[in-house]
Amino acid sequence: MEIRPISPHYAASPQLQPADIARAAEAGYKTVVCNRPDDEGEGQPKAAAMAAAARAAGVDFRFLPIKPGSISRDAMAAFNDILATAKGPILGYCRTGNRSATLWALSKAPLLSPDAICAATRAAGFDLAAMRPRLEAAFAGDADRAAVIRHDVVVVGGGAGGLAVIGSLLKRKPGLDVALIEPREEHFYQPGWTLVGAGVFKPAATRRRLMDVVPDEVQLIRGAVAAFRPEDDEVVLEDGQRVAYTALIVAPGLKLDWGAVPGLAETLGKNGVTSNYSYRGAPYTWELVKGLKSGKAIFTQPPMPIKCAGAPQKAMYLSADHWRRSGRLKSIDIEFCNAGGVLFGVPDYVPGLMKYVEKYGIDLSFGENLVAIDGPARKATFEVTKDGRTERVVKDFDMIHVCPPQTGPDFIKASPLADAAGWIEVNPDTLQHARFPKIWGMGDGTSTPNAKTAAAVRKQAPVVAINVLNQLKGRAAVAAYDGYGSCPLTVEKGRIILAEFGYGGKLMPSFPEWMIDGKQPTRAAWLLKERLLPPMYWQGMFKGREWLAQPNVTFKPVGAP
Ligand SMILES: Cc1cc2nc3c(=O)[nH]c(=O)nc-3n(C[C@H](O)[C@H](O)[C@H](O)COP(=O)(O)OP(=O)(O)OC[C@H]3O[C@@H](n4cnc5c(N)ncnc54)[C@H](O)[C@@H]3O)c2cc1C
Repeated sequence: MEIRPISPHYAASPQLQPADIARAAEAGYKTVVCNRPDDEGEGQPKAAAMAAAARAAGVDFRFLPIKPGSISRDAMAAFNDILATAKGPILGYCRTGNRSATLWALSKAPLLSPDAICAATRAAGFDLAAMRPRLEAAFAGDADRAAVIRHDVVVVGGGAGGLAVIGSLLKRKPGLDVALIEPREEHFYQPGWTLVGAGVFKPAATRRRLMDVVPDEVQLIRGAVAAFRPEDDEVVLEDGQRVAYTALIVAPGLKLDWGAVPGLAETLGKNGVTSNYSYRGAPYTWELVKGLKSGKAIFTQPPMPIKCAGAPQKAMYLSADHWRRSGRLKSIDIEFCNAGGVLFGVPDYVPGLMKYVEKYGIDLSFGENLVAIDGPARKATFEVTKDGRTERVVKDFDMIHVCPPQTGPDFIKASPLADAAGWIEVNPDTLQHARFPKIWGMGDGTSTPNAKTAAAVRKQAPVVAINVLNQLKGRAAVAAYDGYGSCPLTVEKGRIILAEFGYGGKLMPSFPEWMIDGKQPTRAAWLLKERLLPPMYWQGMFKGREWLAQPNVTFKPVGAP
């Protein structure tokens, strides 16, 4: 237990356990406030269990759940009511204590100077510097200004795209006024999850605290964008906070729609149901692969577009390779149930992949889309389309690796930024929004027809950075994205078919053929994936070192004759 007093009346703490409440009572706390919604994370006791522990310890317990980055006006009113009516001292807790500290800071904003609030929270170990403009405006009694923060460049989403473009912007213009809006406290290196699912990487190697990867000069605004107001050059966060911009870069990734397959969310991570598309799922894939001695293993792929379109079959080949090496392959029946009609979208890579399909004895089933799953009964239902007819087929499994359906994020779909299919509608060359010139899009969430990969983001970041900086100087876009994306197809442990291609499936190898022939499995490509790409991601892409990412700059407006 780590109680961090902010004032004589109030303290905040990271996650408490039921046994901690008696200790908090001994330390003199009279009320405990839980600010964490139930079921937010593993090992988190439910509020009801905490309330029971509080009753036993003679402490008052209040439940005011706050989703990260979304403190609504109603929540503030409820918190102020707790401060006014509950017996003190009060101890608030959430996952890290940050939400509880933020609630306190916002409640005191009209009364205490921003210096006093920031000093008190900093002394308690909470860095709320990003809230300073809001605290200043609230202290000055300017409710309207309190609701608007302004920055020259605002980036939505601190994933691969958001952090890469920030690196490229600051490399070109150190000291640029940039704010990043991101609700999560952690950043994940998702391309590493394939290797976690094969026991090559430890899960922790793919996760870092967001604050450790965001450059110091960037204003980090913890929150989730709820709406766009391009007519006012503003975005609105879930807590009502408005953020105004001169240029806006939108990089929110895509939505993994686990809920679209009935039964999937409830059973993921147990009953033999796994997915490398989640941080928690990937280690379970490896657990299942190691444990399966015989039986049926199914690997699914939903309709396109999905991020890293090769990831479903990468999981399959690495699992099959483990079963082959451990002498179990003959006892395991492997099936690839693919909603699409081809093994891989770019035909040049298919012959190399087919050799592995044959080597591992994999049954390829095209036109088969997973539509329901019953984990305890170990049955998966597919909609199978053949010769224009669709019927439902139920298959038994011992292990199933699911790639979930994927769409544009809900807040994009509901916004004026979306195209008819729900993706951010951008010019495929300049990445500028099709209707709102101050808005730019990049990463998995856009309408561009490239492979949705971190490799694509690596190439897009300098393009957007150059064009945005030009725009700030009143000039036109001069850099163009060529549609590059890459998919390292891990066909066995130690060898990769390195697919690299741009718009229209044009092959775009980064290396001479004698070094890496992308159509053949090579050890060099495996070394690239295992040893070189992770440091390129953390130390290169996020720091503006544009390795293998030189943008195509025309020096005249893109599209001009
Ligand atoms: C299993 C797997 C294997 C992969 N393998 C590879 C590979 O080998 N090679 C490769 O190049 N790529 C690979 N990828 C794909 C790669 O990880 C993605 O293409 C890349 O992360 C896309 O970056 P992004 O910024 O668009 O989205 P993300 O990195 O997903 O980041 C989006 C960010 O936006 C934030 N956000 C969402 N909603 C909001 C909101 N309302 N307000 C503010 N912020 C918001 C999210 O919290 C998140 O931090 C793989 C992915 C997976 C899952």
